[in-house]
Amino acid sequence: MRLILVFLLVTPTFFSAQNQNNYPQDYFGSPLEIPLILSGTFAELRANHFHSGMDIKTQQRVGLKVLAAADGFVSRIKVQHYGYGKALYITHPNGYTTVYAHLSEYSPEIEAYVKKHQYDKESYEIELFPHTQDLIVEKGSVVAYSGNSGGSGGPHLHFEIRNKEEHPINPMLFGIDIKDTTRPLISSIYVYPIGDSSTVNNANTRQKLRLTPQNNGDYITESIEAYGTIGFGVNTTDRQDLAGNRNGVYSIQAFLNGSQNLDIDFSKFSFDETIQLNRFIDYEHYKTKGERIQKLYNDNNGLSIFKSDVNNGYLTIEDSISTVYKIRVSDFKRNDAWITIPIKGVKPKNEFVKNETTTPYYIYANSATNLKEGRVSVDFASNTFYDDFHIDFKVKNDTLFLGEDTVPMKKYFSISYDISNYSEADRNKLYIARLVGYRKYPSYEGATRKGNILSCSTRGLGTFALARDETKPTITPVNFRKDQWLSNYRYLKIKIDDSGSGISNYRATVNDKWILTEYDYKTKTLTYDFNDGVSTNTKNNLKVIVTDNVGNSTTFESVFYRK
Ligand SMILES: [Zn+2]
Repeated sequence: MRLILVFLLVTPTFFSAQNQNNYPQDYFGSPLEIPLILSGTFAELRANHFHSGMDIKTQQRVGLKVLAAADGFVSRIKVQHYGYGKALYITHPNGYTTVYAHLSEYSPEIEAYVKKHQYDKESYEIELFPHTQDLIVEKGSVVAYSGNSGGSGGPHLHFEIRNKEEHPINPMLFGIDIKDTTRPLISSIYVYPIGDSSTVNNANTRQKLRLTPQNNGDYITESIEAYGTIGFGVNTTDRQDLAGNRNGVYSIQAFLNGSQNLDIDFSKFSFDETIQLNRFIDYEHYKTKGERIQKLYNDNNGLSIFKSDVNNGYLTIEDSISTVYKIRVSDFKRNDAWITIPIKGVKPKNEFVKNETTTPYYIYANSATNLKEGRVSVDFASNTFYDDFHIDFKVKNDTLFLGEDTVPMKKYFSISYDISNYSEADRNKLYIARLVGYRKYPSYEGATRKGNILSCSTRGLGTFALARDETKPTITPVNFRKDQWLSNYRYLKIKIDDSGSGISNYRATVNDKWILTEYDYKTKTLTYDFNDGVSTNTKNNLKVIVTDNVGNSTTFESVFYRK
């Protein structure tokens, strides 16, 4: 009895004020010396993930000083071609870790540490976990320089704060202040009949509602007629004061006849759940129309950002009963946009029958599924999908038709081809491609070969085919010619490219000694820094070998002079 009482007393904190929090305030300083203007907010919706930090604009420049947000030690350094590019992790005595990504370079001490390991390993891509005493930093000291490395579409600093469990937390909750007096923008509102017997405006499909802005900045929609279980969806973004970027909002709440039935709060999430974004948004609509509708009901999305579970955000509309549904969208500074949706309960005269497409192949979401025809085999692990459904599956020659990429998936699945009908010479040139767009452009998915079985792992349904890559990579010097004197040069730049399966690896040497070349996939450029001092010779032999994903290889050799 006592336990139950405690539970009842604690439960109402579901709806506690957002900005009261237990995170240390003013512990973390700004990671940059310029005013903070964001091109991305925490947890905003990205491709296959929620954004795990804040993206700070760097005035279209690279090379700005990046400062340690607090005292601590460098606990991790990761350099990768894609993703975060050059990233730095600092762990602080209070248990939090700050992350700085897309850097152009590290501070001299850290840069030397990284380069030593890169030369030891003979690899640009590297991941290091320094000991607590190796690289100690003080709050406000320069730890790196901002850049555009990795999967970054323009110079900026990605800044993140993680707790001990490695869960990213909204940095604004730590008092990092961004000027914002502008309320969120509501682009569109949708209503979804849920299940076979529900209707909205005499239809059993998603309906877009007309939005009318009010004088006070709120919105009202047309009145809808509905019956049965329904749910809503909203397309919303937030703009802050000092930039035009459309960033993510901080919270979305919904109220039915004045009582709250939903609270979505973008304060914290875990990397394990980030792929569930595809279930949170209307994925089919996103993949076909490019618009991200955030669903205001929890259809088994497994997300911790859903803070209340009153009927999981669903509404049950009864005949002849009128209700008012209100949505409040807020940014971190509590600028609100309200949407009012009047609902009339009207039982439809006709029964609606959903036009479900049926195929001979059925996915039970809870079970593993193997589909096989001819030389092609597809394997889905259990719980790859959220729902049971009829899947399209057809094999014609070497083309696999596997529906459309409009179904959210939690896991990767594998595709295998038996290629024993090809000659050995051909087998070595084959890869599995996803056919993309109207022109069915073959995009490399994988080419793992075991005997005569070629397989790949991918996420997203679609059309796949065997493709052949017989084209070798190309290697082109950018800023030098053969036999040139390069005494005053700081960098050596080489462009590498591959049509077909794409570049798998590259290796550059000077006088047979490995040199560190930084690979930027966006400009397809390898860059060597002469300050690394690999050679003190006057005459130098440069050799670059580039291999594509099926093993086609090109060797480039040149000679340069320095003194
Ligand atoms: Zn970012």
